[in-house]
Amino acid sequence: MTSPTDAARTALRRLSELGLPPTPDNFQRFYAEAGGEGSTAADAPAAPAAPAEPPVANSEAEVLMDAVRQFAEELAETTGSLAEDIGQHNADLLKTMAAATPPPSSLTPQVATLLSSVLSITSTIHSTVQASHAELMRAREEIDDLRRDLKQSRDWLLQDPLTGMQNRRGMDSTLFHEVARARRSGTPLSIAMLDIDHFKQLNDSHGHHAGDRALMHLSEVVRSVLRDSDTTVRYGGEEFVMILPETDLNGARFVVDRLRLVVRKSPLIHEGQRIPLSLSAGIAQLQPAENGSALLLRADRATLQAKSEGRDRVVESVADMG
Ligand code: GH3
Ligand code: MG
Ligand code: MG
Repeated sequence: MTSPTDAARTALRRLSELGLPPTPDNFQRFYAEAGGEGSTAADAPAAPAAPAEPPVANSEAEVLMDAVRQFAEELAETTGSLAEDIGQHNADLLKTMAAATPPPSSLTPQVATLLSSVLSITSTIHSTVQASHAELMRAREEIDDLRRDLKQSRDWLLQDPLTGMQNRRGMDSTLFHEVARARRSGTPLSIAMLDIDHFKQLNDSHGHHAGDRALMHLSEVVRSVLRDSDTTVRYGGEEFVMILPETDLNGARFVVDRLRLVVRKSPLIHEGQRIPLSLSAGIAQLQPAENGSALLLRADRATLQAKSEGRDRVVESVADMG
């Protein structure tokens, strides 16, 4: 199978050979002909049905941009050394002429005219190649800027703006990768789902702004009790998921108990008022036959059980309950 980079380069070359503009449609046609994978809508794989499985890897746009950047880089290098060579040849030619016997002043007018037109042509070629080189360098910088923008847009797409945590879309990819990693390394993986108790009441009594501040406050507390390798997700309005690699069910209970203690000890202070917060949580450890969605479902059920048993508590999901 042709690599995406090779296919993109072949497509670009064909476009330039045929003098066609590199529009998305034109590019796509030649990319497909060059054997680029998933390059047409008909070839594209269907969106995965299970929400917890799709990895957000390099997007096609990034692969394409990498290929174009590499192409521009190679061209820039070629034109750069070409400009240097021509410059050097011009200088050599001038030196040879200066040292020539008889001196150029004694040349016949025809030869002098010929020489001066050769010099003028080569110096024009030199400046054209130099200008192309500078343009290619600029193009390369523009591509780098675009890649940064693209990465930032993708990060934003996966992030909740209020808390800065991953959103559900981001979680799908993280959970998928963490499940795969736990399987490979044979280490435990647990998740905890948290739901703020009576949050609607908090909004109703103190206003939506206080509710927003409570969510931000809680996200800071959650971050303060977790390790760098853990991931926190804003799963829904006032629901959070913590993905805890290398953590078994006991470890997950320890983390959630510590979190609940810190939450209890640090109420939200809003307009001079202390607003207490409490959490109901469900925890679950990945089982051998389970995928991320099934694990999430068990944690969700355990959270519902914590609610129905009176809130402000943690319920452990046992593997055979789902
Ligand atoms: P329970 O103890 O059963 O979880 O009750 P609850 O009130 O926390 O749960 P419910 O699902 O009834 O209400 C959730 C509330 O969360 C309702 C919604 O207005 C509020 N909410 C969701 N997202 C946001 C948000 O971004 N900001 C604010 N301020 N409120 C939000
Ligand atoms: Mg809820
Ligand atoms: Mg709630």
